[in-house]
This record gives sequence, C-alpha cells and structure tokens, in this order.
Amino acid sequence: MPTSAVRPAALQATSAAHASHAAPPDAHPVPDRHGASLFTADPDLRALLPLYLPADLFNHLLPHLERMGALAGGVLDELANVADHAPPTLSQRTRSGLDAQRIHKHPAYVELERVAFAEFGLAAASHRGGVLGWDKPMPPAAKYALTYLFVQAEFGLCCPLSMTDSLTRTLRKFGDPALVERFLPNLTTQVFDDLYQGAMFMTEQGAGSDVAATSTRAVRDDSAEGGWRLVGDKWFCSNPDAALAMVLARVEDADGTAVDGIKGVSLFLLPRTLADGSANHYRIIRLKDKLGTRSMASGEIRLEGAHAYLVGEPGRGFVQMADMINNSRLSNGVRAAGLMRRALTEGQFIARERRAFGKRLTDMPLMRRQLLKLTLPTEQARTMVFQTAEALRRADAGESDAYPLMRILTPLIKFRACRDARKVTGDAMEIRGGCGYIEEWSDPRLVRDAHLGSIWEGTSNIVALDVLRAIRREGSLPVLQAHLQGLLRDTPLHATARATFEAAIDSAAALAARAADAGADGDVMARQAASALYHVTSAVAMAWEAGRIGSVRRMRLAQLVLVHRVLPQDPLAGGAEPEWLAETVAAPADGVAHAAGQVDQVNVF
Ligand SMILES: Cc1cc2nc3c(=O)[nH]c(=O)nc-3n(C[C@H](O)[C@H](O)[C@H](O)COP(=O)(O)OP(=O)(O)OC[C@H]3O[C@@H](n4cnc5c(N)ncnc54)[C@H](O)[C@@H]3O)c2cc1C
Repeated sequence: MPTSAVRPAALQATSAAHASHAAPPDAHPVPDRHGASLFTADPDLRALLPLYLPADLFNHLLPHLERMGALAGGVLDELANVADHAPPTLSQRTRSGLDAQRIHKHPAYVELERVAFAEFGLAAASHRGGVLGWDKPMPPAAKYALTYLFVQAEFGLCCPLSMTDSLTRTLRKFGDPALVERFLPNLTTQVFDDLYQGAMFMTEQGAGSDVAATSTRAVRDDSAEGGWRLVGDKWFCSNPDAALAMVLARVEDADGTAVDGIKGVSLFLLPRTLADGSANHYRIIRLKDKLGTRSMASGEIRLEGAHAYLVGEPGRGFVQMADMINNSRLSNGVRAAGLMRRALTEGQFIARERRAFGKRLTDMPLMRRQLLKLTLPTEQARTMVFQTAEALRRADAGESDAYPLMRILTPLIKFRACRDARKVTGDAMEIRGGCGYIEEWSDPRLVRDAHLGSIWEGTSNIVALDVLRAIRREGSLPVLQAHLQGLLRDTPLHATARATFEAAIDSAAALAARAADAGADGDVMARQAASALYHVTSAVAMAWEAGRIGSVRRMRLAQLVLVHRVLPQDPLAGGAEPEWLAETVAAPADGVAHAAGQVDQVNVF
C-alpha cells in the first residue's frame, strides 16, 4: 500500500544520489497539501454538524470523521489516483478456457471498497445498528457527513456505495419480506468477503430520460428462480457485476401482449448468481470508456432470459424505482458538494502558499475575488446537503410536511450543485496554474468526475422539470416557503437584510409558481425557477446556520449568495474590493468566527 509515510529504501538511496542536483534553497517549490486532513482543513464542517445531528451522535462520530478526513487527505487520495489511471477491464474466459465473465478491478480500487463498505459501513449505516459502534441506524446526515469527506478523495466508488444503500432501501420498502430476509444480511454486512453490492439497470438505448419507452420484457416462468425471466438490452449499467441489481422491465403476457407506457413497467430484482451457484442468464457485452469515474466499471448488459424477482406491485415499477432514484439524486448532490469542497480546500491552500511577484496569491485582490466565487457555491451545496438530509430523516419518520419538502429539495440540489461542481472544479484547477492540468494532481480527476453528476440519474433538464413536478403533484412550494420563513424567524438579522431575504423568497416562489401553473408552456422556465429556488433556499439556510453558530463570516456569505446569484446586478458598475473580503475568503481558523450578537449587524445589500 503506498503511503506518504512509507518511503522504500531504494527510493531514499536514489534521492541521496541526486542530492547534488537538489533545487537551490531559495527556490519556491509547488505547494502540495497532500497528507493533510480534509476534515481539519474545513472547520466549518465541524461547526455545522451539531445543527443537524443529535449531540450524542455528533460526539460519537467525531473521531470517525477525523479518521476519514485524514485518510481522504492522504492514502485514499493516492489510491483514488492510482485507480483512476488503471480502469477496470472485462475478461470473458478463465485461462483454462471456461466461459466466466469477470471484471478485473485494480487492487487500489478494491482497497477503496474495503474502506468504504467494510471499515466505515457507509452503505449499511442507514439500515442497521452496529456501524462504527453506534447501536442504531444512523440518520442520513451522519452517513452523508462521512461520504462528503470520502468523496473528496474518491468519486467513482460512491456510485456503487449509493446503489447498494438505495437498493437496500427500495427492497426493504417494496420487496417481499422473504426476499428482504434473504438478502439484507449480505447487503448490509461489513465483512468484506460476504458483501453483496447493488446496482440499477434502467437505461436502454431507446429509453434514457424517457423511461416509459422501456422495451426489456419480463415473462412469467414458474421454473425460473424468482418466477420471472428478463429479456432485453440495458445500455448503461454502472457496477455491472454487482451481486444484485434493480431492473425495470415491461411485463409481457403469454400471448405476447404488454401494457404500453409507464404503467406497463415493473421493477425486478436480478441476482448475479442463482441459488444453485450458477451464473444468471445475462452477459456484460462491454465496458464503457468514460471521461470520468474511470476507477469504477460501467457496462452494457444483455439479459438472455435472466431469472428475476418481481419487487412490489406490477405496473408500479417506475413509482417504486423513483424512491431509489431520489435517494441516488441526493447522494449525487452530496458528491457534488464534496467535489467542490475538495477543489476549494486545494485552492485556499495554494493561494496561501504559492508566491508570485513577491507576494502570496491570496494577497492579490483578483485572487480573493476568484476564491469568493468558489466559496459561495461550495457553501451553498453543503448547506443544501444537510437541509435535504434532515428533511429526508423527518419524512422517513412520518413528520407532516417533511415529504413534500424533501421531494423538492432533492431535485434542487441534484440540479444546481452538480452544475456548480463543473465550474468550481474547473476554476479551482486554474488556481494551481499549469500543475492543475497535470494528471498527478487531483484537479483533472475532479473536473472529469464533476461532469458526470449533471448527466446520470437524470440530466439537468429532466431534474429541473422534476422540481416543477414536485410543485404540481406534491404541493411542495408552499411547504418550502413555510420552511424558509420559519428559518428566517429563527435567525438574528439586520432589518434591511431580513427584508431582502423575505422579498427574495417571494420572488423565487412567484417564478416557480408561474412555471408550474403554466403546464407545458412553463417547462421553458424550469431551470430558471429551480436555480432561483436553490439560491434562495441555500442563502436562507446559510443565514440560519450563521445565527446558530454565531458566524459573521457565514452570514456575509449567505447574503452574498443573494447578491451574486439572485438580485439584479449592473455588470458595468465596477467597484472597489470590500474591506471584509480577505477575511471572508480565508479558511476560517476555528469555524465559529464571532459572537452571536454581531451576526445581526451584517448587511451587504
Ligand atoms: C457513466 C454513466 C453511468 C451510468 N450508469 C447508469 C446506471 O448504472 N444505470 C442506469 O440506469 N443508467 C445509467 N446511466 C444512464 C444515464 O442515467 C442516462 O444517460 C441519462 O439519464 C440520460 O439518458 P440518455 O442518455 O438516454 O439521454 P436522453 O434521454 O436521450 O437525453 C438527451 C438530451 O435530451 C434532453 N431531454 C430529454 N428529455 C427532455 C425533455 N423532456 N425536455 C428537455 N430536454 C430533454 C436531456 O436533458 C439530454 O440533454 C449512466 C450514464 C453514464 C454516462
């Protein structure tokens, strides 16, 4: 295992031999924060978590967060870089000529799997007690806090993690109890060799966003394990060798008739290996050569009469799958937030350590402006992660109004945070200068991975339209407005700032209502409406957090979100740098910047 602490003797000898060629003492090497914890680099995370976790769980998790932060900043980052440059391969036969498909994963990736699934139990934490010594299932915010750190090193594996977690959730919600009893222990085990990973095979060549066009057929067959056989092609299948996959297929009667459209689509559980130990009847046709998530396999699958179990009611496949998709969309938001945080942490470090023209980069006004532009979307996304995770916890607990709130916050974060991550990772790459473009640094990986978030689990258009669907079908808009007004009431605010926040909530809600009420004619406004709601929601929630932790800096950031992303601006206005900018873009020393009393003095409008 390569770690920065272990330097092989051969390497040390080489270094000594080359000592005479060492750089002169006044040379300024390229700064490298490798090996430093990503948890301690981000004290706001520690300051904010007690707002979203019960005190006993927060205290219990603290050493685990510290350990995850240290690993993600060091050895996991090294493993991720190795795995990213050594993608998995597919072989069809054993060396002795037996047909046996196998995906070969690099040992670095397998080690990442071990840390995530076995050591930290990230896929199991929501489903049973005992993970990391906590005796109950953990609330979503706990799992996502750890994932937020893990993904700052490795993004690709977070798909199988989320799929396993979400498949387990969907199976428990809709699956036959006997099926749940049979598979739950393997899906939630932390014994690595016993683990069953999950996957979701939904997309077909002719049915991506348009799931109603699904053409894979499901035929009743009592002789098959599970009672059904699946026939068809699935075009995008991440984690294709997973032990279990949720698959959408159209039930076909014995005479070949099937119900058209979304009402004909049902949900099936597909085991990779049948109960008698033989391989199920499907093949991985090939693996995709991808821009990002290169460490993790995505493939194409041909179902050749594969045995499968029906999950839930026939014809309600998409409705049931929607639960899994929503969970994956939230997980995507968490990943986007983590990618941005990693990019910002790197950017802050370089700006502090790198010198040009006799100054530190951070002493230059344009660099401070650049850092602010990275900081705002990064902080917005983090706040949205925890707001959505808390809404999900309350919805699962059956609290009134929590479901419609969760139902709108989820597409909001998936839509906007995933788009912001593309820009933030790209702009952070530029802060490192030329080195940012070089594959031995984390930046290219972050940029490549960030671009996927907006595509899978629903493209930006589809997810923005889902925001309107939540408004139309779940009545989510008044619930969101009430939630934001409640947060504002609970926040000490300067009078002008309060009026500005209130007006912003009203304007964003009016735009979203107009888009939702206009039917198909309103679709063209879906992205604008989703962006407006996201920015206003994150700004209000950040202000609330600022009041709670007594952070003047965070209150300023909350207000700047409105200034930069919601309120009208004159692009030709220019203007001097505000005196508070340097302090606002510097990494906070302790996360709790100032006493609570000062928060209500802040007004940047
Ligand atoms: C690396 C990778 C891994 C993946 N893994 C999986 C997986 O494990 N399981 C799985 O099921 N799928 C997976 N996918 C598939 C992914 O979810 C789909 O590619 C995605 O949902 C888009 O579907 P599509 O490719 O068919 O594009 P299309 O649906 O053809 O969309 C093309 C364009 O049309 C736009 N569009 C479509 N409908 C509308 C509309 N009503 N209004 C406006 N614009 C519209 C879309 O926004 C998009 O820009 C993966 C994809 C990738 C790239």
